[in-house]
Amino acid sequence: MNPKIRPLSIRRQGDDELLIEWSDGETRLYTARELRKACPCAVCTREKPPADPTALPVLSQKDLEPLRIAQMSPQGYYGYLIGFSDGHGTGTYSLPYLKQLGTPISPSES
Ligand SMILES: [Zn+2]
Repeated sequence: MNPKIRPLSIRRQGDDELLIEWSDGETRLYTARELRKACPCAVCTREKPPADPTALPVLSQKDLEPLRIAQMSPQGYYGYLIGFSDGHGTGTYSLPYLKQLGTPISPSES
């Protein structure tokens, strides 16, 4: 990605969504849960032990609770530190990484 592409505006949409308008003209919609799952911090990206092959996935209580973006702090030109309502907030999302996440929406839809 072109490193000159930067967010022009970052807006909260509702309680748990984020709308980022990028300088290349694209607007992307991000949900708090998607960003939380994509957290790039050392804890979240550490290799997890292999899952029990006989276990089926279950939704934990945490998965059922609404998740909000509690704070976003700019980290110089690098990206944003994002804190979530579940108390986790050690992941710094670089701008190129953020640009890959989310769902592009056409400006006419907003
Ligand atoms: Zn994390």
